Amino acid sequence: MKEPLTDRLGRKIEYLRLSVTDRCDLRCFYCLPKGFRDFEIPDHWLDFDEIERVVAAFARLGTHRVRLTGGEPLVRRGLPDLAARLARLPGIDDLSLSTNATRLARHARTLREAGISRINVSLDTLRPERFREITGGRLEKVLDGLMAARDAGFTPIKINMVVMRGINDDEVGDMVDFCIEHGFTLRFIETMPMGETGRDASDRYVDLDEIRNRLARRFELLPGMMPGGGPARYVQVAGTDLRIGFITPISRHFCESCNRVRLSADGTLFLCLGQEHSYPLRPLLRAGCSDAELEAAIREAVALKPERHEFREKPEQVIRFMSMTGG
Ligand code: SAM
Repeated sequence: MKEPLTDRLGRKIEYLRLSVTDRCDLRCFYCLPKGFRDFEIPDHWLDFDEIERVVAAFARLGTHRVRLTGGEPLVRRGLPDLAARLARLPGIDDLSLSTNATRLARHARTLREAGISRINVSLDTLRPERFREITGGRLEKVLDGLMAARDAGFTPIKINMVVMRGINDDEVGDMVDFCIEHGFTLRFIETMPMGETGRDASDRYVDLDEIRNRLARRFELLPGMMPGGGPARYVQVAGTDLRIGFITPISRHFCESCNRVRLSADGTLFLCLGQEHSYPLRPLLRAGCSDAELEAAIREAVALKPERHEFREKPEQVIRFMSMTGG
């Protein structure tokens, strides 16, 4: 057994978020600018062999959880094949997917068979008109995708809702009802100042304590837990199966327990969502590095992991959009 991957503050890194593309078929206004086209060129994307090599190296260093994300991961052709290859890697025991679900109706069953166990779906509103305004897309496709995921046996299915004042904060109760009805887990997320779009949307920021207090007037909220090891703090809605998670990078950050790093589609390792510290792996891979060199590079990269993000103190500092690293 190799020395586990640990950063200079003693945090164990056991979770890799893997962006397979920076492209997306939606344009959520707080994520990607309308008409944005400045995407990474396909020659720069890691191919599936390269991705598998990097994930295998992480697995040898103790990473056991991998989440496929993007951009929209399902716009990358052949994603179920990649998922199947990663699920087979020794040491990887938890392979999950974050998706906007527009293409999930077509792929849910294959993804499940490929070995993806858990799915997170981004959904900020249940109103078709509003959905179009926020994302530029069609709500119906997402709902179809969600039902297909449920029918394919994914469990849990988590709905991620970015709560924004004057945009969708009036739908928090509706989303709770929707998740109770369908057996989904619900997570609320605070808006982060990532890229220009995220910074503009920060005007709409809502402290999730406010949402929790609002819900507590309507529901009895009990302390809750959820397997997964992520940053959400959960409550259970009494008398139902619903768990609600609060992800509060701004009002109450959770950097001291951060256990993850992110690989972008072009093979750059990002050490913190809210900082620009990064380490390019693609040049090494394409220069024919050995497995030992790749592992050494990953250790060197992890040593660069900063103590915490500074979304509050320096909201202007992250210039990349969330779609580059997938949240
Ligand atoms: N396309 C996939 C999806 O929809 O889940 C994965 C990538 S998407 C960038 C990941 C998550 O980041 C989504 O839930 C999205 O709402 C969230 N997100 C994007 N920009 C954000 C921002 N500025 N603040 C908070 N969350 C953001």
